[in-house]
Amino acid sequence: MLRMTVGREFVADLESVRAALSHTIPDGNLEKVLHACLRHMLRDCERRRRGSGKSREKSPGSVERATGSRYVPASVRDEVWRRDEGRCTFVGTDGHRCGSTYQLELHHIDPFAKGGPSTAPNLTLACAPHNRFLAEKDYGAAHIARAIAKAQGARDNPALGERGGSRA
Ligand SMILES: [Zn+2]
Repeated sequence: MLRMTVGREFVADLESVRAALSHTIPDGNLEKVLHACLRHMLRDCERRRRGSGKSREKSPGSVERATGSRYVPASVRDEVWRRDEGRCTFVGTDGHRCGSTYQLELHHIDPFAKGGPSTAPNLTLACAPHNRFLAEKDYGAAHIARAIAKAQGARDNPALGERGGSRA
């Protein structure tokens, strides 16, 4: 049994969805309607996870090869996701695998900044806290702080984000 208190807006949206689904769910059964919503959301998330196949992190002027880019092709992401069974692969000192499904990210085993390729064997699923933990281990907390500061600086003042622009 699931019991929850909902707001007026939720009720209004629910009625709209019920109406919209009345062809497929004529009796407007609450469980069926909500289940249809959940399935729809899962499909949506799945689609987003697989991505459009376009690079989101292209920086102008950079030469990107399949393995020389931080961008991970959808096929590789899919392969890693299936292999790792959609769960965090981090194994703690006690030998237990985390297995979390929360905020999963791709982790470069051989660090990307140190030349690690964006290929399935070099990628693994990690929940956000473990990915952060692993990144700090790979790069050191100081490096992370610098990278964040640099990213923020670049956003606030684009000129600061550029390197080696002038050659005298
Ligand atoms: Zn984890």
